[in-house]
Amino acid sequence: MKNIINILPENVANQIAAGEVVQRPASVLKELLENSIDARSSKIHVEIKNAGKTSILVSDDGIGMNKEDAKICFNRHATSKISSANDLYNIKSKGFRGEALASISAIAHTQLISKQENDQLGTQIDMNGSQLVSIKSVVAEKGTKILVKNLFFNIPARRKFLKSNNVENKHIMNEFFRISLSHPEVGFIFFNDGNEIYNLKRSTFKKRIIELFGNKTNEKLVPINEETEILRLNGFVFKPEFSKKSRGEQYFFVNNRFIKSPYLNHAVKAAFEGLIDTNYNPSYFLHLDVDPKTIDINIHPTKTEIKFEDEHSIYAILRSSIKHSLGQYNISPLLDFERDKNLDVPYDFEKDSRSGPLGIEINSNYNPFEKNKTISAINVNNNFEEDTQILQFSSDSENITQLDFKDINNSVIKNQIIQFNKKYIINKTKSSIIVINQERAHQRILYEKFLKLISSDKNNSQKLLYPSQLEYSPQDIRILKNNEDQLKIFGIEFNFSKDNLIISALPNFLKENDLKFYIDNLLINLQNETPIDNFSELDLFSKILSKSMSIKNGKILDIKEQEFIINALFACKDASRCPFNKKTFVKMSVNDIENMFK
Ligand code: ADP
Ligand code: MG
Repeated sequence: MKNIINILPENVANQIAAGEVVQRPASVLKELLENSIDARSSKIHVEIKNAGKTSILVSDDGIGMNKEDAKICFNRHATSKISSANDLYNIKSKGFRGEALASISAIAHTQLISKQENDQLGTQIDMNGSQLVSIKSVVAEKGTKILVKNLFFNIPARRKFLKSNNVENKHIMNEFFRISLSHPEVGFIFFNDGNEIYNLKRSTFKKRIIELFGNKTNEKLVPINEETEILRLNGFVFKPEFSKKSRGEQYFFVNNRFIKSPYLNHAVKAAFEGLIDTNYNPSYFLHLDVDPKTIDINIHPTKTEIKFEDEHSIYAILRSSIKHSLGQYNISPLLDFERDKNLDVPYDFEKDSRSGPLGIEINSNYNPFEKNKTISAINVNNNFEEDTQILQFSSDSENITQLDFKDINNSVIKNQIIQFNKKYIINKTKSSIIVINQERAHQRILYEKFLKLISSDKNNSQKLLYPSQLEYSPQDIRILKNNEDQLKIFGIEFNFSKDNLIISALPNFLKENDLKFYIDNLLINLQNETPIDNFSELDLFSKILSKSMSIKNGKILDIKEQEFIINALFACKDASRCPFNKKTFVKMSVNDIENMFK
């Protein structure tokens, strides 16, 4: 038989390797930033266009490459960072596989310009998917500049697979945060679509955290410091009352490398035991320094997972030192941070330790398997009275498929409604009982409201007498800014400065008091994967908004609110499903109930 085994050509091998190294634009940014850090840069400039789909530029003032090195850096296994297998056990650099530039250049249009300090001229190399296009000497600054354009241009399937700009930008920011937090001694400038988002001066870890997450962060931080034979630990955790139901900010850095570790995360959570509800997650920013010989970072191509030699001891040290610091903070809250007047009362360990953090009401019905778990626990005083705006029943309420609900449509009889389990509204009609999921129902109500809004040219927006100012991180502000046009269509208008969002107009059916709640949820939902089906962008946006602005399960509703939900739901064109195609209510007829007794 004929031989059938081939050795793959280098460009094919590179494309395959790229599948592992480059999942999305954010992976490119990560690799380029790591190279700049390894090149001992003190300032790194980043420019992202179109969520990295159009281009990613990273420019540094590091040691640069001479012409010969520049020529081979795109080859697979080209690395200056290790030279023998022994080096693998003592890695201090970020990279060492020599795969990143080979992979990236295989699936993009790449341009590199690099110059070393003592060279007269720099080198410019242009690559087109593993093919060398040109190489020339150019005038350049010391350092390296790499521009990666049209990622996945030669793999349409991968390009199509990229998510919306909101989602890709979120990944990009995650990588940027991880790297800029692991190297506060390096300055970073970050541009997104031509706007300067961050200009981070070289500084301390603490200042870097505050610069990235907003000025308010200062009040939230509790310092953690510990030194033992096997590790040095330092960093910060958020005070327990700032823990979140969503994952929050969770950063472990081991020898200045961001890592993911469910095991160590568990250790931190264990340290907060009794201080936060089990559904909540602490936020933390922790640097662990260990002997590089005691870890293996080689177990995953993107190097975010590592193996520790002595995992159990690290777990124990983490847990006990955080516990200790939280305890100390309890006794002496003035140690390292300014006092927040709202937080003067130290934790009272004698009180019911199972209760949630101060100021947050825990939703005991919380179901971790529910999609919207990140927001279902937030309890706001969403005191929405019957809003005449929303209550205007659509004239096509005849379209309601369940015609026998018409009798409840306009005449809810008060005592026949109850709220059950802070989640269901139960109502009796002539011949049946209906059980409504309050959150889904309200989503449907808002969704139809929004759809109407976008199809009418009426301006529903109302200027606020006094614009509302809310503090958000620059990243959050950028997300909103990227969606400014859509938000405007829905009547939400705003300005912004570095840390502040200034809302100047709202649609008249949204309550100004709940602004923070709306915006917090909106930010979460905009960044989450939302399946993009055949609907228009505005339809999708209506869904996201309805999810963000709806009342949540877990909220106690007064009778007026319950009535409102029932009335407005059954005035909807499609009362039976929420915008995410789940049931809004179930109906039990007398027969159904009788059958249950058989
Ligand atoms: P690795 O980082 O694993 O060594 P890469 O493919 O990322 O592999 O980079 C290959 C080599 O190119 C590096 O080892 C380094 O010598 C050189 N290089 C890449 N980026 C830079 C940069 N920004 N400054 C200086 N040298 C760089
Ligand atoms: Mg590298």
